[in-house]
Amino acid sequence: MNNPAGTPPASHPHHPDVRRQDRLLDAAGQERLLDTGEYGCLSMNSEAGGYGIPISFVRDGARIYFHCAPVGRKLDILARDSRVSFCVVGKTQVIPHQFTTAYESVIVFGRVATGLPDEERRAALRLLVAKYCPEYKELGETYMEKSFHRTAILRLDIERQTGKAKQMPPRKPPFAG
Ligand SMILES: Cc1cc2nc3c(=O)[nH]c(=O)nc-3n(C[C@H](O)[C@H](O)[C@H](O)COP(=O)(O)OP(=O)(O)OC[C@H]3O[C@@H](n4cnc5c(N)ncnc54)[C@H](O)[C@@H]3O)c2cc1C
Repeated sequence: MNNPAGTPPASHPHHPDVRRQDRLLDAAGQERLLDTGEYGCLSMNSEAGGYGIPISFVRDGARIYFHCAPVGRKLDILARDSRVSFCVVGKTQVIPHQFTTAYESVIVFGRVATGLPDEERRAALRLLVAKYCPEYKELGETYMEKSFHRTAILRLDIERQTGKAKQMPPRKPPFAG
């Protein structure tokens, strides 16, 4: 069961475990992707079908925060159905001669909370600045205050997660015979 501490195991009638058990990405690998991934795909259930968007994020334990404009399609969808999945892909490498791709990825499942208190919104924005603009923390405070009233924060509470990896082949030394 490759879940973060405190979250329920992945196995569930609607959430099967990774079928290829030889391709599991371990908990440390999953955390690494959730801590370092530049963006992920947030997938929602719209009345018209699936709706997935690329979006920046920051993880804080078993929570993932996103920031966005206070209006838009994703917010309309989340107001009706807060269940989502969020997928982050790490390193990939196409291996043409084997007709395959090496990869590592994690998918988290959970619900998105909106309408968060100001204190939590500020803390989340600081985490985003620390992740994406660590050298601009001071300027980030000014920027945050200026745009605070028009910035929504979404919190994904992780209920389950699975990680999968197809290992990179060892690189051949340049002049290997
Ligand atoms: C690497 C990356 C990081 C991003 N980070 C953030 C972030 O941190 N916060 C944030 O709010 N947004 C981010 N975006 C933009 C994000 O993907 C959405 O466009 C944005 O959040 C608006 O979503 P919405 O549903 O409110 O858009 P709306 O404008 O309400 O959507 C209307 C329609 O526009 C189309 N659409 C919306 N987004 C996209 C898209 N990305 N590509 C193609 N068509 C689209 C869809 O057809 C949708 O039905 C990021 C995008 C990328 C590529």
